[in-house]
Amino acid sequence: MTWTLTSNERTQDSLLLEESLYSLGNGYLGIRGNFEEGYGEGMESIRGAYQNAFHDIIEIPYGEKLFAFPETQQKLVNVIDSQTVQIFFGEEEERFSLFEGKVLSYNRQLHLDKGYADRVIHWQSPAGKEVKLTFRRLVSFFYRELFVIETMIEPVNFFGKVKILSSINGNIANYVNPNDPRVGSGHAKMLSVKETGISQEILYTLNETFVSKLQTSCVSTHHLSGAEGVPEFVKKDSGVEMVIDFQLSGPVKLTKWNVYTDNLRHEGNIVEQGMGIIQNLRDKTFDQILELQTEYMEGFWEGSDIIIRGDDNLQEGIRFNLFQLLQSTGRDKYSNISAKGLSGEGYEGHYFWDTEIYILPVFMLSHPDLAKQLLRYRYSILDHARARAKEMGHKQGALFPWRTISGGESSSYFPAGTAQYHISADIAYSYVQYYLATEDRDFIMEYGAEVLFETARLWLEVGHYHEGLFKIDAVTGPDEYTCIINNNYYTNVMAKYNLQWAAKMYKMMLDKEPEQLAQLADRLKLSTAEVSSWEKAGQNIYLPYDKELKINPQDDSFLKKAVWDFDHTPKDHYPLLLHYHPLTLYRYQVCKQADTVLAHFLLEEEQDFETIKNSFSYYERITTHDSSLSSCIFSIMAAKIGDYKKAYEYFIETARLDLDNTHGNTKDGLHMANMGGTWMSIVYGFAGLRLKENGIVLNPSIPENWSQYGFKVKYKGMRLDILISQAGVKLELVAGEELTLYLNGEKITLRSGKEYVS
Ligand code: BGC
Repeated sequence: MTWTLTSNERTQDSLLLEESLYSLGNGYLGIRGNFEEGYGEGMESIRGAYQNAFHDIIEIPYGEKLFAFPETQQKLVNVIDSQTVQIFFGEEEERFSLFEGKVLSYNRQLHLDKGYADRVIHWQSPAGKEVKLTFRRLVSFFYRELFVIETMIEPVNFFGKVKILSSINGNIANYVNPNDPRVGSGHAKMLSVKETGISQEILYTLNETFVSKLQTSCVSTHHLSGAEGVPEFVKKDSGVEMVIDFQLSGPVKLTKWNVYTDNLRHEGNIVEQGMGIIQNLRDKTFDQILELQTEYMEGFWEGSDIIIRGDDNLQEGIRFNLFQLLQSTGRDKYSNISAKGLSGEGYEGHYFWDTEIYILPVFMLSHPDLAKQLLRYRYSILDHARARAKEMGHKQGALFPWRTISGGESSSYFPAGTAQYHISADIAYSYVQYYLATEDRDFIMEYGAEVLFETARLWLEVGHYHEGLFKIDAVTGPDEYTCIINNNYYTNVMAKYNLQWAAKMYKMMLDKEPEQLAQLADRLKLSTAEVSSWEKAGQNIYLPYDKELKINPQDDSFLKKAVWDFDHTPKDHYPLLLHYHPLTLYRYQVCKQADTVLAHFLLEEEQDFETIKNSFSYYERITTHDSSLSSCIFSIMAAKIGDYKKAYEYFIETARLDLDNTHGNTKDGLHMANMGGTWMSIVYGFAGLRLKENGIVLNPSIPENWSQYGFKVKYKGMRLDILISQAGVKLELVAGEELTLYLNGEKITLRSGKEYVS
């Protein structure tokens, strides 16, 4: 059960939700879980196909536009639809639909172990024709451009004429909802059809976006087995249809191969490129592609599965989340992981800090090659970040965009957008973490050093000395219910880490690769005096502390505000952002998400245990968790302070957030950061793992109702398997010679193949 997601729901709400849950992707291409045959009259569906980073540029309309507000934003484009396969039975052409006739049985599954989805249906038409139908679909990890659908029809009491209509459609618009700030409110139509055609039974459409002029193409071909039929093709302005008739006398299969190319990644004529790819595929079978997919998935699970014994629901939750993370992760320099992955259009396909703080750790410790790819993407937009810093009035440094696809700031609401300067420190932090996990010195020196230096420069630009302390004014921390404040604890402490590591990296390079450093310093016009100024600012940075409450205030003014009246806030007024003007929220002590508590997780050495514990209790009372990025951090920190019951409660909220649609908006796409958070709640939370400069630290605990749980960690090229049960801890160094780590404060050394049991 825990390897498959199963459903037989057919209500409007559950189907919209399942469009996201059953979405398939491979980091490049994403297809929502829509029905091939369509839905019932008047039913709503968000039919979607996305190519990661494939975007258009739209103007941001402002009533009052001030200096350096971004003029345009990028928006992920819903691309050509290749999902449609309609089936008609008999001379009277009764159309198959799950909303007509009788559904004698229906079962839908997402196979997390093998990486595909299917629907098995026993259906009786209104006139009594009975057939069995099986739809299988897969987005290939092996052939990046491929989305394949296999439709099988088996007669039960009906033997006769069947017609199939299969199409590709380029007349596509994006989903909009003007009443929800978390989805796009305008510019539904961003794609025009340039050309459609048929060549050697291959259908194609070539589309282009209006402004970015990016091109995408889908080419499709079909293979029928088990019956004879001659396909006919209908070329339309919006796309192409293939129609085929045949006599049903036994099982018949139609395989539809769809290949997506774009001119971000494919050179020359992208239709021809697609044709070339499809020619190599058309002799294959669905099962052959599935075999390759299964092999790929086995490799993935081998390195990343988490096992929980004692709670199947949570086991399903964690596997589902890991699978969806894998499906969403960009694997080239153009792409990253958007807030909703490739499963929907919420947040317009933008990449946020979600990647670095919530998702990267998963890959860094399980598939570091994927983590590296994500960091490369950030490096590829460094020039944009430098340009944005200048635009924002800084002489130098890099200010990464709060939300973006191709590098330009896409946030129009600066108090909760551009003002979140912490994203630059978050990115710097993730380079350091990656280095601690992999010791990939070449990479850190080639890419990481430059990012660290340029972001360190930003803090010197934005901060200032006041009474001997280095302070940062007018920024926004992670909590979006408190904006534009002075000395946000999170921002300051992350900036400190950024500054200190930039200086440390400089010294490391000076020692190991002086020539490479000299070239970089020359290119960046970086002097040793500047490096000293980073060290000085880092040492003297001001971290707010309240002596009475013994906590870190979220910022200079936070504790002076009135506390939000939670007792008189109706339940249906959450999330607050949909019911109160931002200024109302800014006037109160009320948090949308973990802020100081998150800082205490990321940089725990900065404060003593008492401050961390007191801060947790203080902020817990005033945090609404209206953001899905919050519960996982509270779970981790509850475990850290020893409140395991609470840790478990928060964990349940995070592990099945999308499966149970607890935030009510999963139809717009899955919450990718929260999915990474589930993994973190187990690994960093219950198991208490931390990456320190001197190695791995483990402080394991186990929830009462689990008998055991286990996970694997890649560390500096080694592989460590960790199993925690009610009886104790078992560690095994599966790959690598020797590893020293700290278990409950005790230093232990593991040797290859030998188990350590405590
Ligand atoms: C959160 C941000 C997050 C964004 C995208 C917002 O609701 O407050 O922290 O980056 O969603 O997931």
